[in-house]
Amino acid sequence: MSEGLSPALLGGLSGLLGDGGVITGDRASAYERGYRYGAGRALAVLRPASIEATAAAVRFAARHGLRLVPQGANTGLVGASTPSPGGDQLVLSLERLRRIETLNVADRTATVQAGVRLSALNGAAAASGLWLPIDLGADPTIGGMVGTNTGGTRQLRYGGMRRRVLGLEALLADGTLVSDMRGLRKDNSGVDLKQLFVGTGGSLGIVTRAIVELAPVLRRTATALVAPTDITAIPALLQALEGRVGPLLTAFEGLSREALAAALKHNPGLASPFAPDILPPYVVLVELGATEADRDVEEVLVGLLAELSDGPAPLVADARVGAPERIWDLRHAISDSLRREGHVIAFDVSVIRSRLPAFRAVVVEELARAFPMLRVCDFGHWGDGGLHLNLVWPAPQADLEDTERRVRERVYAVVEAHGGSFSAEHGLGPVNLNVYRRYTPAPNRQLSACIKALLDPHSRLGAVDFA
Ligand SMILES: Cc1cc2nc3c(=O)[nH]c(=O)nc-3n(C[C@H](O)[C@H](O)[C@H](O)COP(=O)(O)OP(=O)(O)OC[C@H]3O[C@@H](n4cnc5c(N)ncnc54)[C@H](O)[C@@H]3O)c2cc1C
Repeated sequence: MSEGLSPALLGGLSGLLGDGGVITGDRASAYERGYRYGAGRALAVLRPASIEATAAAVRFAARHGLRLVPQGANTGLVGASTPSPGGDQLVLSLERLRRIETLNVADRTATVQAGVRLSALNGAAAASGLWLPIDLGADPTIGGMVGTNTGGTRQLRYGGMRRRVLGLEALLADGTLVSDMRGLRKDNSGVDLKQLFVGTGGSLGIVTRAIVELAPVLRRTATALVAPTDITAIPALLQALEGRVGPLLTAFEGLSREALAAALKHNPGLASPFAPDILPPYVVLVELGATEADRDVEEVLVGLLAELSDGPAPLVADARVGAPERIWDLRHAISDSLRREGHVIAFDVSVIRSRLPAFRAVVVEELARAFPMLRVCDFGHWGDGGLHLNLVWPAPQADLEDTERRVRERVYAVVEAHGGSFSAEHGLGPVNLNVYRRYTPAPNRQLSACIKALLDPHSRLGAVDFA
């Protein structure tokens, strides 16, 4: 029996949710710890098997003043999908709502329940030559993707989750179901209520179903690691590629030498396309993708890179076209490899994309001056101005917590000075709430908190109240 929840409440919930619907004790631990951040204690974990049962559980929680934190695949990176350490929240796992209700090929849409995994949807849509074109190194649920407005490596071409949501159904804290499941691409008939639930991490409502817009699958892709003539040339390289091939450009990811070196060191099965031991200081993963099976995008890419290496002001110093999956494996191996190098202080920041080189130069210089032990091992979605500014602290140190706090203060101050965001794509949660309070203008916070108070007056949903 869980601590803190009376036998009567536990019995009431079990009666509503049936077999496997309520988990307590040791079996709850997988739901209490996030992929990387967030560890708490749940009053109990609720796993409703239908939308009706989810609504009944939410109404039960409201009646009894119980707090809920929605959870999908629990791959979020800001600690917002796990219960608080105080043990005063129920985890509401949507993992059993995994029905793909319809796949509408003519409209290029899918109607899915919140717990459907991205891989399951893409597996089902592949037979119709379609996919949900949001690409990342995790396998989240649709509800979690709505909650965090997932971006990923192909946001440059396809946009993030916000752009993909054509219909949504969500439960408010009191159990009221708000629904717009018409799936319209055009509708300017009032406040677009769907948007309230995108990127707000389950703090305004619990997504139960969504209609998402799919895209034709890419039948041909070509991928290269490109060393620019200088890091400051990267925005011009992006502009040149966009100018010449437009929507054929599907990814533009920056990778520092330190990040690449860590991926290579800890993954002996991966190989550098560059000469052994000579990694350029910074490279860009460039991908072209075409929906036509007979479009030779590799020929286009090779020609483009040759053109951009030439002339009086070349932008490309070196470039290697390679097997796409091998290059993507390198990219996706970085995060976990860095954790094997030492203590990682991770940032998910953004500035307007043309400002990235200047922002990075300032931050690298400031950190080198103040914290010479830190290794900057950044990588990220340069095409969207996003940077995973991951810093590795190699040696154990007693006052690491205090050092980390000072490092964070300094980095966020530079982000602010460059007009950037402290959370480019991972959202808001206990991990970065203090930064939100510091850097979000008071009127913006007040309005957000008013919306929260209107929809959830007793602050029972999710991990943040936006105050
Ligand atoms: C290796 C790795 C790589 C990643 N790469 C990227 C990346 O490139 N781009 C990117 O944007 N993110 C990335 N992420 C972060 C993460 O995968 C995304 O944020 C993802 O969308 C979270 O989905 P989830 O189902 O795991 O949600 P969870 O982690 O379970 O929850 C995330 C948030 O959404 C809320 N939530 C969950 N379900 C619902 C629901 N049904 N209704 C309302 N709210 C809900 C939770 O309360 C929480 O606030 C990565 C994570 C990992 C581990």
